[in-house]
Amino acid sequence: MSIATPRYSAWSLLRARFAGDGYWRPLWTGRRLQSSYDVVVVGAGGHGLATAYHLARDHGLRVAVLEKRLVGYGNVGRNTTIVRSNYLLPENHYFYEDSLRRWETLSRDLNYNVMYSPRGVVDLALSDDDLAGMARRGNAMRLAGIDCELLDLGALERFCPELEPRRERRFPIVGALVQRRGGTVRHDAVAWGYARAASALGVDIIEDCEVTGVHSTGSVATGVETSRGRVRAERILFATAGHTGLIGRMLGVPLPVETHLLQAMVSEPIKPFLHTVVVYVFPGHGETYICQSDRGGLVMGGHLDGFPSYTREGRWDRLEEVVEGAVELFPSVGGVRILRQWAGTNDMTMDGSPIIDRLRYDNVYVNAGWCYGGFKAIPASGAACATLVATGTAPDLIRGFRLSRFATGHLLDERGGGPFPVRL
Ligand SMILES: Cc1cc2nc3c(=O)[nH]c(=O)nc-3n(C[C@H](O)[C@H](O)[C@H](O)COP(=O)(O)OP(=O)(O)OC[C@H]3O[C@@H](n4cnc5c(N)ncnc54)[C@H](O)[C@@H]3O)c2cc1C
Repeated sequence: MSIATPRYSAWSLLRARFAGDGYWRPLWTGRRLQSSYDVVVVGAGGHGLATAYHLARDHGLRVAVLEKRLVGYGNVGRNTTIVRSNYLLPENHYFYEDSLRRWETLSRDLNYNVMYSPRGVVDLALSDDDLAGMARRGNAMRLAGIDCELLDLGALERFCPELEPRRERRFPIVGALVQRRGGTVRHDAVAWGYARAASALGVDIIEDCEVTGVHSTGSVATGVETSRGRVRAERILFATAGHTGLIGRMLGVPLPVETHLLQAMVSEPIKPFLHTVVVYVFPGHGETYICQSDRGGLVMGGHLDGFPSYTREGRWDRLEEVVEGAVELFPSVGGVRILRQWAGTNDMTMDGSPIIDRLRYDNVYVNAGWCYGGFKAIPASGAACATLVATGTAPDLIRGFRLSRFATGHLLDERGGGPFPVRL
């Protein structure tokens, strides 16, 4: 496959416009909901669409994706687009590294430009303790063959001069852990790319179709009840991200997830000045992570809002804290205006790691608990989850993400370099 290059000229656009077929051709065709499928995937976020794509491509199954709102309406279109594999625990770093490798070739695989930008992810250390924790994490990664570098101030200055790491600050920087292959991927392109590729393989993507219940005979689910009627299915996957707690309630299985808001914001566009992703966790539990979008906007986020909610609004004081960190890092952005702010609902597990497993019925599966870090997981999760649903056996890559770990105590206690980074 090759990457499609647009062949639009001013003339072709004008001709298409007046010929009536327009140039805003739908990326995927809206299909009619059939009465039965091999697999029904609930949720057209990144995980649902990627799994549907792999179910059709790798396992030849007839699949429908049922979405209660619109493709990309959920967290897949609300995140801050950061991808990386800089985790300490083997279950996590091998899994996220598999994903990062897939990001590297995803544009070619989907024949759709998802704009993977390996601009590097820089975790700043503000104390010797921080640096020692980062060294430990970095060593674990390197032993697993994953790239990362521990930088002293001189090396950090060379990698990211715009940071001026030696500048006097309230919380001075002492070093950093950098993963150069980490970076960003255009999030809505990921949703559209997977939807388009899945649709081309015959997957029915049905929007405005809420799943409200599961039909079953004994331990086997026979289909789902939806706002558009009943649909029979041999297997069902719930990939509903920040709504999985509600799915657990619907199935009568309380899940160990709590739904919290995570907000993000973007500034007005400014001249390119920040070429990497910087994560800055300052004492007193504040956090700012920041990068610059291709349009020039500063994309920023921080901690969870800290209380369960489905509102998708976000707290003012959290926003203030994130901006404070950004100005502390880069004083010159002090006068830049915030253009917009938004929030998403994240289903948080108590150990910060996801759940990919069978749930209640022999043929019902759940893909959940991505906390604030599930965007970067999408390619690996899609492929592995499809294997689990198609064969009933979890590939090694996701064995650690079993639900039973919460009962047996085999937790994967690592909250990652995200809003609550690991400090070991
Ligand atoms: C502000 C913010 C910043 C983030 N930044 C990052 C980041 O930089 N890097 C990173 O790796 N991760 C990040 N994340 C986390 C990441 O976005 C999520 O973990 C991931 O997108 C969740 O998976 P998804 O894409 O499948 O979810 P979603 O896109 O939320 O998909 C779930 C879908 O299920 C649908 N649904 C729910 N219930 C039903 C039902 N009953 N019937 C039918 N459909 C249903 C929803 O409408 C939704 O479309 C961030 C999240 C937020 C909110």
